[in-house]
Amino acid sequence: MGPEVVMKFGGTSVGTAEAMRQVASLVASEPRWPVVVVSALGGVTNKLLDTARRAVQGEDWEPALHEIIGRHHTMIADLELEPNMLQDLEEEMERWLRGVALLREMSPRVKDALLSLGERMSVRLLAGVLTQQGVVAKARPWASWELGLETDGRHNKADVLSSCLEQIQNKISQLSPGEVPVITGFIGRSIDGEITTLGRGGSDFSAAVFGAAIGVQEIQIWTDVPGFLRADPRVVEDPALIPAMEFDEAAELAYFGAKVLHPRTLEPARKRNIPVRVMGTFHVKPDELASGKANGTLITNSGTPENVRALAIRENVDTLHIHSLRMLEAPGFLARIFNILANFQISVDVLATSEVSVSMTFDNYERPLLEKAIKEIEQFAKVNFHPDRSIICLVGSKLRNDTTLIGRVFSLLGQNEIPLEVISQGASQINLSFVTEAKFGRLAMKVLHDEFFIAE
Ligand code: ASP
Ligand code: MG
Repeated sequence: MGPEVVMKFGGTSVGTAEAMRQVASLVASEPRWPVVVVSALGGVTNKLLDTARRAVQGEDWEPALHEIIGRHHTMIADLELEPNMLQDLEEEMERWLRGVALLREMSPRVKDALLSLGERMSVRLLAGVLTQQGVVAKARPWASWELGLETDGRHNKADVLSSCLEQIQNKISQLSPGEVPVITGFIGRSIDGEITTLGRGGSDFSAAVFGAAIGVQEIQIWTDVPGFLRADPRVVEDPALIPAMEFDEAAELAYFGAKVLHPRTLEPARKRNIPVRVMGTFHVKPDELASGKANGTLITNSGTPENVRALAIRENVDTLHIHSLRMLEAPGFLARIFNILANFQISVDVLATSEVSVSMTFDNYERPLLEKAIKEIEQFAKVNFHPDRSIICLVGSKLRNDTTLIGRVFSLLGQNEIPLEVISQGASQINLSFVTEAKFGRLAMKVLHDEFFIAE
């Protein structure tokens, strides 16, 4: 028998000595054999980036380096761990930064090597706490590649090679029974032996890769919120927790920008049909976990359908409305627009088209580039640019076949005199998005929330 569950802890879950102890008791309380995946201590990845930026710009970077090292040392002291346990990694960090300062530049390869240190340090701390006082019988820190994880060579946003899954399984099967591996999230190594990273927030993805390779019963993502919420807590007071939902729904929310889960996490889990459970490190008590009563959001491929599962909002969005000047059938009209946008590296987000016009919003992009793109499009079409919009997104697998539901949404928005600018139902058919002026965005979320989650 091998490990049965992956427990992934994010940066805030291991950000302080107290948090680290809570994590240790959660790991000890999990009745099944866990594999632990962990992020760098909260804020460390950003701090490493900032230190490197200083080195590149010729500023004084050493105090920032000492701050990072000092933070880990305070933690080591608070947790009563071996004082020199990170020494080799601290020296490595200083060497990389010295190199960056000398060259006054940082290549993507060096950036990955530097950032990897955050996770390589945190696994040692957590494994240390776990072995201390016999919290678990045996725990050991591992760099992901030591347990078989391999990536392609795309620095800063590498992908895991599917060919390494078997290798991971082999390595894991060689662990002694009950031994808890504490594995670095976020980082990997290419077949050329270069350290890579999977993109910011990528530890969730690492956890899913290990879970899928091992074939565990559950992938647990432990974070600083209790799970996925019905609506945005900045807009709606105290929205309820979503107890369960489907992979598709969670993927829509993750792609839309719910920071709860890295969007790539769901692919490996869904492929092998492994449930993903999102839970709050500071919301679940260890004895609840031990007795199987911990809740959070459980993501599977067969949730009970509900009218609407969740609402999400994205603010500060710009929209473009483009009208064909000729008002005729114009083959290639859309292709021309999208080519121009692609040339300026602008990716379209929500989109709606009619016979003669097209409206769209964008993912993050640079305003000057959009302005150039608009100039080119104006050669053959009329363009209206509207800044400061909000996108509201409803997610629910019932949206696919319940047409009355969509009617209900729009009549409610009408009653509240909320003007709609772009309406789109994605190909997945479980996401209904619309754009409105910033001042109406939050109102729209509130009325929809009351309709679907309070009034029922
Ligand atoms: N430490 C990395 C980051 O801050 C990866 C992660 O936390 O998931 O992006
Ligand atoms: Mg995260």
